[in-house]
Amino acid sequence: MKHTLPPLPYAYNALEPYIDAQTMELHHTKHHQTYVDKLNAALEKYPDLVGRPIEELLLDIKNLKVDEPDRTAIKNHGGGHFNHSLFWKYLDPSNQQDAMIEKEITNTFGSVEEFKKQFNDSALKVFGSGWTWLVRDDQTSKLKIQNLPQQDAPIMMGLTPILGLDVWEHAYYLKYQNRRAEYIKAFWKVLKII
Ligand code: MN
Repeated sequence: MKHTLPPLPYAYNALEPYIDAQTMELHHTKHHQTYVDKLNAALEKYPDLVGRPIEELLLDIKNLKVDEPDRTAIKNHGGGHFNHSLFWKYLDPSNQQDAMIEKEITNTFGSVEEFKKQFNDSALKVFGSGWTWLVRDDQTSKLKIQNLPQQDAPIMMGLTPILGLDVWEHAYYLKYQNRRAEYIKAFWKVLKII
C-alpha cells in the first residue's frame, strides 16, 4: 500500500477570496502530491516499511533501518505529507468553532486576541520555509506556539499539533507575493475552529 494524496474535502474555490482557487489547486495537486510521490519513492527499497502509517514512520524516524539519504527524504517528504494532510483539515470551511480549545487558549495566552497576536508574530519570524504551529507539549500537556523549519512534523519532537499555518512561499505567493502578513490575516478569515 503506497501513500496517497487525500482528497480535499471541499472545493478549490471554497476559501475565496482569502485563499484563491489557483493557489489551493496547485498546493494540493502539485506540492502535496510531490511530497507523497517522493515519500513513496524513498520507501521503495524497504518493503517492510510499506504499509506503515505516516505517523508511525515519523515517530520512529531515528530508528528506521534505512540509508541516511532515505531517512532525510522520509522526514522531509513524509513530514510534508503529514503536515499538509492536517492543513487541509484546519482550513475546512465546514469546521465548527471549538469551544474547548478556545477556553484553553484563553487560559494559556490570556485571550484569543493575545494568542493570535503571538501566533502572527511567530509566523512573521519564520525565516525561509517552514510552519507556525499551535501544539500541545506531550511532556507538560501545555499549549505553546512553535515555529518549525521546512517540513519538520511536530510529532517528531513530542508535540501534538492543534493548528498549523504553512508559511512556505508556495502557500501564498500567487495572490500575496511577498506580503506574508496579508496571508496570515487571510488565514484567520477562513479559519472556523478559533
Ligand atoms: Mn505547503
